[in-house]
Amino acid sequence: MLGVENQLTNSEPDSNTLQLRLARKTPIKEWQLADVVDVIVETPETSTLRLALPNPSSFIPGQYYNIRIPVEGRPRPIQRAYSIGSSPYPDFGIIEVGVKEMVGGLVSPVLVRDTPVGSKLEVRGPYGAFNWTEEMGGPLLLVAAGSGVVPFMSMIRYAKAKNLTQPMHLLFSSKSKEYVIYGDELNKLQEETGWLKVTHTYTRDPKDPTARFHRRIDKEMLQDLLEETSPKLGYLCGPPEMVELCEVALRELGMEPGSVFSEKYD
Ligand SMILES: Cc1cc2nc3c(=O)[nH]c(=O)nc-3n(C[C@H](O)[C@H](O)[C@H](O)COP(=O)(O)OP(=O)(O)OC[C@H]3O[C@@H](n4cnc5c(N)ncnc54)[C@H](O)[C@@H]3O)c2cc1C
Repeated sequence: MLGVENQLTNSEPDSNTLQLRLARKTPIKEWQLADVVDVIVETPETSTLRLALPNPSSFIPGQYYNIRIPVEGRPRPIQRAYSIGSSPYPDFGIIEVGVKEMVGGLVSPVLVRDTPVGSKLEVRGPYGAFNWTEEMGGPLLLVAAGSGVVPFMSMIRYAKAKNLTQPMHLLFSSKSKEYVIYGDELNKLQEETGWLKVTHTYTRDPKDPTARFHRRIDKEMLQDLLEETSPKLGYLCGPPEMVELCEVALRELGMEPGSVFSEKYD
């Protein structure tokens, strides 16, 4: 896997990590001041921020940036990790992050409710080994809950931009239709491409026919999708409990642990 540089996400690097970086001679990335050039309200609790970077770097679909903001009463800015939702191809100078508001959180409510177009944000990246490019092949099973869909959107948009055809099956858990992030774009891509399939599950709407399932992701659901997709690779992203449940279930259903990649939003 490419891009392994910083395994610490929602905290500053400790001295051991700095020593490790020095030993590996990996460059330490600098914070830069990005311009918020657009804000797209995706759902009642999630917004996309489009960020123009003064010093852009190429990135791999699935990677993330750290964002830090000043918080009243805290001596230092507070940083959090946010996956990139945009494709690095053809242009990586403007990136998109999709942020879901965690009520009572220090950073996400500010990003979702109080960061209008024209704001500036301190960002640093890209980081992360949770990624996919065409060399890794397919078919892919992508399993997301809530904002866990963001890195998959980067992979899907990248595949579309490069006219790739590896089959991708996205299993996407949302509270209800209203809370489906990127809903219209996913529908359109599913209609336009022969390789993307999206299966929705709604956890708080037992009837809506736009979802095939109406419960949390479980082993039986994954079994159905494995039979339909026969994936070479599996990707899991979202809350730690969901990711851990899926890791165990996919192993029990016969997928090799080495072909399943996880990103936990803790
Ligand atoms: C690699 C990675 C990528 C990520 N990508 C994304 C992404 O694309 N989109 C996205 O939305 N998120 C993403 N996340 C999650 C993100 O980094 C933050 O964790 C998330 O936005 C919450 O941050 P916060 O500062 O708002 O909340 P925090 O301040 O961290 O609080 C989180 C929750 O805990 C509660 N809480 C805090 N302190 C206490 C306490 N003492 N007692 C009880 N409850 C408490 C808060 O009320 C809140 O609900 C990612 C995480 C990782 C690790």
